[in-house]
Amino acid sequence: LNQGIGSWPARRARKTPDRTALVHEDRTWTYRELHQRVLRLAHALRALGVERGHRIAYLGPNHPAFLETLFAAGALGAVFVPLNIRLAAPELAYGLSDSGSTVLVHAPEQADAARAAADRAGIGHRVALDGPGDGALGYEELLTAGGTDPLDETVAPEDPCMIMYTSGTTGRPKGAVLSHANITWNSVNVLVDTDLAADEVTLVVAPLFHTAGLNMTCLPTLLKGGRVVLLGAFDAERVLETIEDLHVTHLFAVPTMYDAMAALPRWATTDLSSLRTVSCGGAPVPTRTMDTYLTRGLAFSQGYGMTEASPGVLFLDKAQAAAKAGSAGVPHFFTDTRVVLPDGRDAEPGHRGEILVHGPNVMTGYWGRPADTEAALTDGHWLRTGDVARIDADGFAYIVDRVKDMFVSGGENVYPAEVEDVLLTHPAVSECAVIGIPDRTWGEVGRAVVVLKPGAVADEPDILGHLRGRLAKYKIPKSVVIADTLPRTASGKIIKPVVRDRYASAPT
Ligand code: ATP
Ligand code: MG
Repeated sequence: LNQGIGSWPARRARKTPDRTALVHEDRTWTYRELHQRVLRLAHALRALGVERGHRIAYLGPNHPAFLETLFAAGALGAVFVPLNIRLAAPELAYGLSDSGSTVLVHAPEQADAARAAADRAGIGHRVALDGPGDGALGYEELLTAGGTDPLDETVAPEDPCMIMYTSGTTGRPKGAVLSHANITWNSVNVLVDTDLAADEVTLVVAPLFHTAGLNMTCLPTLLKGGRVVLLGAFDAERVLETIEDLHVTHLFAVPTMYDAMAALPRWATTDLSSLRTVSCGGAPVPTRTMDTYLTRGLAFSQGYGMTEASPGVLFLDKAQAAAKAGSAGVPHFFTDTRVVLPDGRDAEPGHRGEILVHGPNVMTGYWGRPADTEAALTDGHWLRTGDVARIDADGFAYIVDRVKDMFVSGGENVYPAEVEDVLLTHPAVSECAVIGIPDRTWGEVGRAVVVLKPGAVADEPDILGHLRGRLAKYKIPKSVVIADTLPRTASGKIIKPVVRDRYASAPT
């Protein structure tokens, strides 16, 4: 029997065949149609030589074919490898050869990069969503040719389901191997801890090739039998339009997307009354963004997690958002956390330390990286997150920052995230990043790299003046650099190592 997520479309088709599963542009797919398409694709992939354990890569913006390929791979016991569309051909080739993928399915927008990367990595088959040609097979043509007999593949919960690459915020992306059990338990955690319902209309605008959009939002909605609306490239105007037109109940996006929506003239007149949940994950929601949405009666459901944990670890329900502002919440139902000191001892309650995670959602390891796996998964399969947290008396966790981003000024630990949150309350500041730079007197001091809002004017004394009285003296940066943009990952996170390379020695 297939006990993996590749069986979900068939199981849903058995229960709710006529409900709408997916909406994309002007097309809809019922669960029956989704199941039939997945079955055809699985047969076609098998005919191409795909066997259990083989890797199938996907490159493209949000589109139903992404999910069909994921489920078809799962139906065969093959492993799905989503790739980031922002990567250049050599980086894509790295993902393809690192994962050892034998098939690459790609969107028309990525055709050139896909061809170049597939050639470099020596991929057996390229499948193009927009039809055959130029050495690629056509996706719809494959589906039409694929059979509809039931598949006889046995897939166990502990079999690998995906190799998902981390965001690459702190270094080269690593492929986390997530089993079917990992993905399923993560969805179960979401369904237990949230009010996600069978009548949910979930709009996913964060990229599916990152864990949060796919695993926290899209898959739990499909497991429950709700409706997933997919938009391709992010367009704030279209998101607002779609919320109104399709009566979206749950929106998942990253903070920069929420900011872009609220900055539009249309924001004031858009009817948001269908929305029950706005959620966000992968990075802290800036206080400023939360306040903007609160004025429209929308409190964020927030979470903390990471690719390696499939990804949900902590969850803060919108009902607790006000009472526990700044917290990332409490652990998901089937997941546990600990906060430890550098020597491995548990930190005293309320004290800061690295947060570790244990549970059925924690990855089996990094693909082809035994040393990294051993470093990340400590005794008893506790995952080292590399994040600093503290837990309050009620059990709510506060993520302070990454261990790697912390710096020490005059013997005091400075967590840039805390400084950035206050910087963002300056009316002229659009984006910012704080880094530690060497200093003869203090060891290290902070430097703020700031992007101003269009047309806004502010200088160093003005910006630093805003921080005085709001932050302890040792946390206040000694210099400010005004920049045009900040380097970000596809999930919207500022890439601190690049900020440090560019601005640590820049004249101010
Ligand atoms: P890489 O591991 O390649 O450097 P990454 O850690 O950014 O990249 P992800 O797995 O996408 O890759 O992100 C997980 C990280 O995101 C967490 O370890 C944490 O640092 C950060 N994060 C996630 N949620 C939150 C949150 N609610 N508040 C603060 N930080 C968060
Ligand atoms: Mg990480």
